[in-house]
Amino acid sequence: MVRGFSHDELAVEADMGSTRCYCGEGAPCSVSWSDKNPARRYYGCKYWPDEKEYCGYLDWYDDGLSEWYKQVLNEMKPKKKPGIPEFVNPRLIFLVKVMIGLLLLLVLVVAIVGILIVCKG
Ligand SMILES: [Zn+2]
Repeated sequence: MVRGFSHDELAVEADMGSTRCYCGEGAPCSVSWSDKNPARRYYGCKYWPDEKEYCGYLDWYDDGLSEWYKQVLNEMKPKKKPGIPEFVNPRLIFLVKVMIGLLLLLVLVVAIVGILIVCKG
C-alpha cells in the first residue's frame, strides 16, 4: 500500500503498457512518490485510493531503492506550499480575490462621487 501518494500532484504516468488487477481492469503503470518508495514504478488498481472500489492490487515494477537514494529523492520532492490547506479550492481563493478587488473599486467610486458632491455643494 502506498500511503502519502498523491495522484493529482506527483503521479507521473509511465508509458510502459499495463497489466490487469483483481477487478479485471487494466492496471496502469504509475510512479510512487511516497516517502517509502519515491520514484518507484508500479502497476496498481486504477481505483486507488477509492476504498470502496480499490481491489488491493499492487505490483512493483522497479526494485526498492537503497535508503540513500530514497533520502535524496525525498529531499528533491517539491514541498507543499504552507499556509493554504489542501481542501481550499484554488478557484474559491481566486473568487475571493476578485470580490475583494471589486469591493475596493466600489469604495473608490463612492469616495470620488462623495468628493465631487462635497466640491459642488
Ligand atoms: Zn482493481
